[in-house]
Amino acid sequence: MIKITFLGTSDAIPSAERNHTSILLNYKDENILIDCGEGTQRQFRKAKLNPCKVTRILITHWHGDHVLGIPGLLQTLSFSGYNKTLFIYGPKGTKDFVNQMLKTFVFQKNFEIKIEEVIGKFIDTKDFYIEAEKMRHGVPCNAYTFVKKGALRINKDKLVKTKIHGSVLKKLKEGEDIIYEGKKYLAKNMTYGEKEKKISFVFDTSFNDRIIPFVKNSDLLICESTFGEELEDKAGRYKHLTAKQTAEIAKKSKSKKLVLTHISQRYSKNPKKILNAAKKIFKNSVLVNDFDKIEI
Ligand SMILES: [Zn+2]
Ligand SMILES: [Zn+2]
Repeated sequence: MIKITFLGTSDAIPSAERNHTSILLNYKDENILIDCGEGTQRQFRKAKLNPCKVTRILITHWHGDHVLGIPGLLQTLSFSGYNKTLFIYGPKGTKDFVNQMLKTFVFQKNFEIKIEEVIGKFIDTKDFYIEAEKMRHGVPCNAYTFVKKGALRINKDKLVKTKIHGSVLKKLKEGEDIIYEGKKYLAKNMTYGEKEKKISFVFDTSFNDRIIPFVKNSDLLICESTFGEELEDKAGRYKHLTAKQTAEIAKKSKSKKLVLTHISQRYSKNPKKILNAAKKIFKNSVLVNDFDKIEI
């Protein structure tokens, strides 16, 4: 199960209801933070989550609303005896930004920080991989996809027929052929691959040709939706997306569910304006608030 917690859902200016952008993705031992806007560490506390469990931070870009929470979070990790290596990934320029930031504050760094500027597939484990793609936002900006690999499952009907049981099942699950009561069984005949699960994060970009191929077939497409369709001109000027464009991306990429976030305070009284514009084009759209959770 992959758990997503929306710690902040505002655009550049936070409101009483919405904090600056940050999303926590939890899968097994990994707690991956996507962006870390101002106040993110307090959002962790309010959500009853422990910021010291963060394993990696993915930064989309270096506009303040996506990164101003990093120094505070790092300071808390240092005070709290964080003893892992913290991995920070981001677009071009990230190494310099993090190092400058560490120099700006009186900060005692008690743990290792590894910084990587990434594009393409940059994490590939037994269980999942993460990819980055360039977006168009006036400053270097990455979108990310997290893909949980499909595990091998044993075909239960075949198991009943063959009466195989015991420790050999573990080997089959790992894709190994086995010998059971003198007979050979091929893993490929006894198992099937579970489907991958893909979650995409598209923050702060104007529409561009790279988005749809990159987020293709997402189970969950989490996308900025800063402007309503009436402000398409403005969205183009400021290099953001409208709800309508976001929904078109969801539809054309054949994604299963669209999550709208990075909501401007101009819609604070009527966020349905954004949601309804998206739903007209892509029915399975939801608009999230701070602390909403989605599990897939
Ligand atoms: Zn932003
Ligand atoms: Zn931005």
